[in-house]
Amino acid sequence: MHTPFPKASTLTEPTSSALEDVNRRISKSAIAGGRKPSDAVLIAVSKTFPAEKILPIIQLGQRHFGENRVQEAMEKWPEIRKSVRDIVLHMIGPLQTNKVRDAVAHFDVIHSIDRPKLAEKLADEMHKQNRHLKCFVQINTGREQQKAGIDPSEAKDFIEACRQKWKLPVQGLMCIPPQGEEPSPHFAFLRELAHRNQLQCLSMGMSSDFEIAITLGATHVRVGSAIFGPRQ
Ligand SMILES: *Cc1c(COP(=O)(O)O)cnc(C)c1O
Repeated sequence: MHTPFPKASTLTEPTSSALEDVNRRISKSAIAGGRKPSDAVLIAVSKTFPAEKILPIIQLGQRHFGENRVQEAMEKWPEIRKSVRDIVLHMIGPLQTNKVRDAVAHFDVIHSIDRPKLAEKLADEMHKQNRHLKCFVQINTGREQQKAGIDPSEAKDFIEACRQKWKLPVQGLMCIPPQGEEPSPHFAFLRELAHRNQLQCLSMGMSSDFEIAITLGATHVRVGSAIFGPRQ
């Protein structure tokens, strides 16, 4: 069978050990928080990185990946998926309604549901394509003007509408704490909000704060630069 993997000699050592290091740190913080290491899914955020950087990470056993642009994901992942069938692709960025059809076709999980129009369109496309992607509602925990996400005061009604009106398979909540702020109050708040709404999953924590996110209950951490190195 055709294999897309580069020869061992071309593998980039730093990224390999970086993934192992992130996995070790995930296990450690899970155990410290009284959880099992397997309770947290590591999503390797591969945005901006080409297939040559991604393949060595796959070869090390990583299967969950995150992208923030539909177009970029469509350019990279279909080819990789031809030879690696069990990839799980997560959409973690803002999603325009005119990209929903492609997003539903190419992704397995959507983390960024943040408005009624999008929820409605996603539900419609999932039905049409008979593909039922796991869904996260993004919450603007810092109530930032420019930031995507549902205002905390509207979360309950929005989650309810996703379930009842649009019949979306909502599994959890996602947040991106404000830059330069202590993230833990945001993570703790997201956990509380999920609990109040009977949601099991929490997508929170990035390269700089995934350990604290895990001790506060993250089920999905989205880690890019700590695995792949700095982005251009
Ligand atoms: C880019 C991105 C990440 C990963 O960021 P790092 O700091 O590189 O780990 C996580 N979540 C979202 C929504 C992103 O856009």
